[in-house]
Amino acid sequence: MKVTVEEGCIACGACESFCPDVFKVEDVAVADNSKVAGNEDAVKEAAEGCPVSVIVVEE
Ligand code: SF4
Repeated sequence: MKVTVEEGCIACGACESFCPDVFKVEDVAVADNSKVAGNEDAVKEAAEGCPVSVIVVEE
């Protein structure tokens, strides 16, 4: 599984709350794909919870 944060992040912090292993929010959110393994469900929840739908998950 691969996760990408597209342009448009408003740095709300929700994804980092859902899955702090993978997402870090500075100016915008960044995703560390090396940490996705074992965190798949939390990554999907983060993607679904993003208010501007910029987190893209590829199976
Ligand atoms: S949940 Fe979406 S808008 Fe909020 S910080 Fe994460 S990527 Fe950005």
